Amino acid sequence: MNAVVDSIESFGLLDGPGIRTVIFFSSCSLRCLYCHNPEMWEKKGTIFTKEQLLERILRNKPYFKKNGGVTLSGGEPLLQIDFIISLCKELKKEGISIAIDTCGVGIGRYEEILSYVDLVLFDVKYADAAGYQKLTGKSILESEKFIDALNKSKKPVWIRQVIVPGLMDSLDYLEKLSAYLKKFQKIEKIEFLPFHHLGFSKYEKLGIENPLVDTLEMNVSSCEELYQEFINHYYKK
Ligand code: SF4
Repeated sequence: MNAVVDSIESFGLLDGPGIRTVIFFSSCSLRCLYCHNPEMWEKKGTIFTKEQLLERILRNKPYFKKNGGVTLSGGEPLLQIDFIISLCKELKKEGISIAIDTCGVGIGRYEEILSYVDLVLFDVKYADAAGYQKLTGKSILESEKFIDALNKSKKPVWIRQVIVPGLMDSLDYLEKLSAYLKKFQKIEKIEFLPFHHLGFSKYEKLGIENPLVDTLEMNVSSCEELYQEFINHYYKK
């Protein structure tokens, strides 16, 4: 069984706790307006067997220490579900902690993959169905199936919300987000990630129209203020 991988970050510090090897699996069925990885939309990249990927991961194992481990990311790792379940079985035998960074839009077997995962980094796209459809081009319903399985699994979740000026930086949106997050039963952490332009050159290179080409970057301190406002006045556990 093979996987198609865009890239591997050996010592990531941003995608879960501790030092982590982050595997970016290729392909995604969403087309988020703010996507900064359009090169991962198609299933193109380096082919790895499970043994090859495991060997790469095990080289880094001494650095994982107490908190670190592996993060399955993408693109959307759930689209290569047979492979990631098989890989997770091996990682568990090695005692390696597993996180998955996902928008929850895969092709099923959610309960099974969640039984191996220690932490879910869930990418909220938009906190209501109409906005979700406009932002991603897809219905919100598949992600809700994943959230149901996540709640059944009782696994902890870190919520990640990209803040795009004009789309999510309003008090009205914070209200919607607060209502939306009630769906999750075990939130451990919430992160607001400011929209940036770092992926813009990729659109040009790939010849893909960039729908947010005229949208400003989200100011980092304004994003932090918005986050504090959300935590202090809107987010109800
Ligand atoms: S889910 Fe992630 S990789 Fe897929 S389009 Fe959205 S931002 Fe890009």
